[in-house]
Amino acid sequence: MNVSAAMNKFERKPKFVQLIFVDINGVPKGMEVPISRLEEAVETGISFDGSSIPGFQGIEDSDLIFKADPNTYVEVPWDNVARVYGYIYKDDKPYPADPRGVLKNVLDELAKEGFKAYIGPEPEFYLFKKNGTWELEIPDVGGYFDILTLDKAKEIKREIAEYMPAFGLTPEVLHHEVGKAQHEIDFKYDEALKTADNIISFKYVVKAVAEMHGLYATFMPKPIYGMPGNGMHLHISLWKDGENAFKGEEGLSETALHFIGGILKHAKALTAITNPTVNSYKRLVPGYEAPVYISWGYRNRSALIRVPAFWGNGARIEYRCPDPSANPYFAFAAILKAGLDGIKNKIDPFAYVEENVYEMSDEKRAQLGIDTLPSSLGEALGELEKDKVVKEALGGAYRNFIEYKKAEWEEYLDYLESKHLPKDTKRVTEWELERYFFI
Ligand code: GLU
Ligand code: MG
Ligand code: MG
Repeated sequence: MNVSAAMNKFERKPKFVQLIFVDINGVPKGMEVPISRLEEAVETGISFDGSSIPGFQGIEDSDLIFKADPNTYVEVPWDNVARVYGYIYKDDKPYPADPRGVLKNVLDELAKEGFKAYIGPEPEFYLFKKNGTWELEIPDVGGYFDILTLDKAKEIKREIAEYMPAFGLTPEVLHHEVGKAQHEIDFKYDEALKTADNIISFKYVVKAVAEMHGLYATFMPKPIYGMPGNGMHLHISLWKDGENAFKGEEGLSETALHFIGGILKHAKALTAITNPTVNSYKRLVPGYEAPVYISWGYRNRSALIRVPAFWGNGARIEYRCPDPSANPYFAFAAILKAGLDGIKNKIDPFAYVEENVYEMSDEKRAQLGIDTLPSSLGEALGELEKDKVVKEALGGAYRNFIEYKKAEWEEYLDYLESKHLPKDTKRVTEWELERYFFI
């Protein structure tokens, strides 16, 4: 699509456009240019200094070019500004640490095998009243699927859903989650790159609408100890020649089973990318419907991978580990690469379990070969360093990612030491709230 075709889909033609990319954490960054420069942003790109962008340092130097992707052009309904996503270049070559470029490389690799990936996310978030301290105030006392007076946020959710189409998202289900003041809005699955863009747009809309109502939306994986965490389950399927390649004669195809085999094999290293914050590991504990063990099953919600009961073209897997603090471009790249490894090397998944894995004895789990996910960011990073396939998924961004994340882990350990807190505490610290609340 060219610029005028993209713009003609909208009405207002604001005077400025935001050129947006994400940093290593998946946090959107960008600059605004007069709309008259949009054509130039698409054709030749706009140069910028990337030296202070988290995770961009150290690769050659800092003169980078942003090239807008006109297909992503939207106009923000409540602000007189347009937005566009794009790719980053350096000396006419894709910039290795650009997360969107990292995902594109993996999608190109899938395409070489004839596959197209579709992903649908289930992002969860909390709405809090902030009172100037890190003591979070809970504005509603609703629980799972409450629809009446308990859910004070229902107007907010509806408003979010009404704004979503302007950003190219199709809302599907709005509901109260298990936690007080915890919510979920699911939107329609799409091709992987579009879904990653959609997650960035979704978080932006949720946070903006919450602020309009004097609340803060947080996507941090575990804002409060003792309450459910925020997950971002991903429903994934691969398609080939216009058909769902996960669809078997009965149930799942061989391709799907091998994809599962690949994910299970690389599950430990994957957590470093799908659960990339110190706080992520406060969510992955028993008792809150978040995964802890590396297992898969059909109806089983205690499993890391669940196969929903949809067959034919609806066949898919649900990966329950990711949380919304993940950089979606990196997370999708890593998951798809692990699944593709399973397909290429015909990795069979070990037997599925339908029992609740949390309630099994350690002996039983050991007998079934069910291993445990990493219990901290430090441990997950160690697993990532050992896993060639998952490292490869991050391509030229790997070195920056591991260095950035190791420094984050060290900083947290120093904090714990300074506060005389145990190294393996599952309580949520002020350090985490300060660092991740707005993620
Ligand atoms: N909040 C849960 C999690 O941390 C998920 C609840 C659900 O099944 O939707 O993953
Ligand atoms: Mg949910
Ligand atoms: Mg789910």
